[in-house]
Parts: sequence; structure tokens; C-alpha cells
Amino acid sequence: MTGIVLPGAGDEERAAAAERLAEAGRAARLAAPKPDRSAELAAAARVPGTVVHDEVVAAGAPWSGRVKAGEYLRIIDLEGCQAVDFLCFDQTDPDNRYNAGNTIKFSGNVYVGQGTTLYSDRADALMTVVADTVGLHDTIAGCCSAEANRVRYGIEGTPSCRGNFLHAFAGHGLGPQHLVANVNWFMYVPVEPDGATAIVDGRSAAGDYVDLRAERDVLVVISNCPQRYNPCNAWLPTPIRLIRWTS
Ligand SMILES: [Zn+2]
Repeated sequence: MTGIVLPGAGDEERAAAAERLAEAGRAARLAAPKPDRSAELAAAARVPGTVVHDEVVAAGAPWSGRVKAGEYLRIIDLEGCQAVDFLCFDQTDPDNRYNAGNTIKFSGNVYVGQGTTLYSDRADALMTVVADTVGLHDTIAGCCSAEANRVRYGIEGTPSCRGNFLHAFAGHGLGPQHLVANVNWFMYVPVEPDGATAIVDGRSAAGDYVDLRAERDVLVVISNCPQRYNPCNAWLPTPIRLIRWTS
């Protein structure tokens, strides 16, 4: 799609090009026919257990919460193509945090999906994907940031997942040192045979979801990605729903 770094003579020209692309992408999304996904949304709202917590997270907002060992967290994409930036930590020791490299090594696959266990720095199992209606979730591209958006698009001061993560971290005594390469649920970053990679259109539709089982007590921190300048959110950030439940 748009590539990672927009070319241009200067930041002003690149920012104008990025705004044009974003506006065109958003208009195309709003004009596209909306398939009826009410059955999928209703199915996603039914968990096979007892609901402990149920919350809609607004477009672009941060969220954090604890999930006890053996509990489940369902993340539902309510409108489709919404990137959900996600980190998890050993609740008793946040330095024992999600590690993308260990997760990729142990699963033998660069994508996250059904059956993938999310491992920590100390190679402890934190959470496992036990249901997934989409597949091929990203864990190599990291999160968006105001700084990266300036480099990529010549635009200063954008809302970002880095900003969301740091905001949510502050409530748990965590800081920038805890911000590591994350999982991007519903974000598609294909890696070609020659190693080429880019963020392209998401593969999820309204009502798609993933279920994660906590393998120990964990703290989950989420940024419901506010990015408007590339296709990770199909140019229009939208809400998600989180359901924590026990079997
Ligand atoms: Zn983001």
C-alpha cells in the first residue's frame, strides 16, 4: 500500500500527501458496502463461560487490566480492520514481559494465531491464543508513535500507540523501558520470500475475535490504535470490545 516512508521534497509536501491519502482511504471505506455481520457479532458476544468483565474500548483509546491465570480475554473487532496493539506482563514481575523474539522462535512462525503461546523475556508462557477467527496477526512491526509518524509522514504530534501505552503504563508504575515489540491483533504485515514487508489492509471483519488464555496472572495493556495515515485501521480507527471470562 503506502509504503513505510512517504517520499517528498520536505515535511510539508509529505504531510500534505499523507493527509490526501488518509482522506481518500477514509472516504473509500465509508463509501464501501457494509456486509451484514450481525450474526458474527452476536456469536462473538457469546463466550463459553462466565463473563467477569465486558467493556467497549473507544477508537484510539488505551486500556489496561489484569487477567488471572486460567481466565480468558476475548478481543472483538467490532467494525473490522482495526489494529489492536497489545502487551502483556507477568503481574508479579513486570520485567518478565512479552518477548516477540521468543514467541516467534518457539512457535516457528513469524505470525501470531491459533495455538501461539506468547512468551516472556524469561521464556515463561504468559498467554495462549485458544481461538482466532482471522489468523496471521503481526508481532514484528511494533507500535506507531508520534515520532515515527513524523519520520514516515512529516506530521508532528499525532495520537499514537506509543503514547497510549505510556499513558496506560503510568497507572501501573511502568515506564518507557517496558515498551517492547508488541502483538498487533488484526494487523496484517506480510513478509515476502525476499524479506520485503509492509503494513497492508487488515484481514478482519466486524465480529472477528481472538481468545487468549492467561497461563499465569498477567497485566494486559492495549492501545486501540489511533493511526490514520496507513491501512492498519483501514484509514478509520474504530472501537473494540473486550470480554474477560472464566470457563
Ligand atoms: Zn498504532
